[in-house]
Amino acid sequence: MHNKTIAEISRDLAAGTYSSEEITKDLLTRVSKLDKDINSFITVTEEQALSQAKAADANRAAGNASAWTGVPMAHKDIFCTNGVLTTCGSKMLSNFEAPYDATVVTKFNDAGAVSLGKLNMDEFAMGSSNENSFYGPVANPWDKDRVPGGSSGGSAAAVAAGFVPGATATDTGGSIRQPAALCGVTGLKPTYGRISRYGMIAYASSLDQAGTITHTAEDAAMMMNVMAGFDAKDSTSVDRDVPDYTATLDNSIEGMTIGLPTEYFRDDLSADMQQQVRNAIAEYEKMGAKVKEISLPNTHLAIPAYYVIAPSECSANLSRMDGVRFGHRCEDPKDIEDLYCRSRGEGFGEEVKRRIMVGSYALSAGFYDAYYKKAQQVRRLIKNDFVTAFNDVDIIMGPVTPTPAFKRGEKTSDPVEMYLEDIFTIALNLAGLPGMSVPCGAVNNLPVGLQLIGNFFDEARLLNAGHKFQQATDWHLKTPTGI
Ligand code: GLN
Repeated sequence: MHNKTIAEISRDLAAGTYSSEEITKDLLTRVSKLDKDINSFITVTEEQALSQAKAADANRAAGNASAWTGVPMAHKDIFCTNGVLTTCGSKMLSNFEAPYDATVVTKFNDAGAVSLGKLNMDEFAMGSSNENSFYGPVANPWDKDRVPGGSSGGSAAAVAAGFVPGATATDTGGSIRQPAALCGVTGLKPTYGRISRYGMIAYASSLDQAGTITHTAEDAAMMMNVMAGFDAKDSTSVDRDVPDYTATLDNSIEGMTIGLPTEYFRDDLSADMQQQVRNAIAEYEKMGAKVKEISLPNTHLAIPAYYVIAPSECSANLSRMDGVRFGHRCEDPKDIEDLYCRSRGEGFGEEVKRRIMVGSYALSAGFYDAYYKKAQQVRRLIKNDFVTAFNDVDIIMGPVTPTPAFKRGEKTSDPVEMYLEDIFTIALNLAGLPGMSVPCGAVNNLPVGLQLIGNFFDEARLLNAGHKFQQATDWHLKTPTGI
């Protein structure tokens, strides 16, 4: 049962092929046997999952079933879950049981989904390889010596390994699309504001967005139908109608104009990767889409601008982790200063500390204008590039990552090398646009992703384009060789 999609499980449950309890038990057994080597879960909530599954089966028997009733899934450990550990991949929160559920979690609970637990991630969502987790690195199911990408590496690896058919994830600079690409699964980062961030631990508030990791675009649409929408508890969530994302999956893409940014097909992309992406675009041309070359001239400024803005925002957001109100507290503090210094010194990992220091510096009086304000001005230029491009095209396509999954330890000694991993994904977050990664090929037996970039709130078009591609190809059906 472990390779089934959300849509298939939903249909099977409706047909009575198996019960929610049966598939939940089956997947829990698979996790307990195989996740030792993958490390995708931080917490498995076995008891809760079984009681949710039984309740779902009872609801179905009583005639109260929806598409999600009894469907298993799991949450990135950045989403607060009432009474269940929420660590955000950090020692700082290794004892934190949230007193409430994130809106996203509430929505899946209300829809009748069954959560198997909480998934591993880079500490506070900072990273591109899942090597920054206090709970240890996550292995890529395609090759266990390689990284699954980050920061939602646990979500991507769990779906690729067949532990759950879908998982929630978050993307601040690429953390959904990049791990999805490296693990051969489908990842959608919606428009900023499309999904509530309430109860989602903040990294960089103007960039963070929740989204989905699944096998297929169809499943991503099913998850979006649950997650999307306004939430009075999140002032940045947008009050705008939510379409039925599954209704337009089969629309024809005849005549759709695809923009190919010149800047995304240069030296940063190896010839092998380039070939895979070009093959995928050719598939769209066969389906009747037109291709147009476009320019996003400020692309090279995206990483420098992001690595001022994201650390600045994280330095402010993480100041609440002070050992006083919640989270890790040092032993026997001498005084209040000692309490702050040692609690934070012990609780945060190296990358998080690096970013807090960079951010505090960039926001300090005297440097604010030179760094933070300048980065915000550059951000506007990057957004304007996309606004201009979307005057001429319906969708933009390109690579997700410069290379396929790299070896663990390969990039840990050089932070800048690691930051470059997000060169094709980060600009979207700065602009607030939706983006999606769809499996489109392989290099050395490792998955490669195609990135689809949409206009604001045009998730339905991305899902439609992803779905059509998946009907014409079988890259999303390939199963990892390492598990
Ligand atoms: N890799 C980027 C970072 O480390 C993006 C992470 C993310 O999207 N959460 O900040």
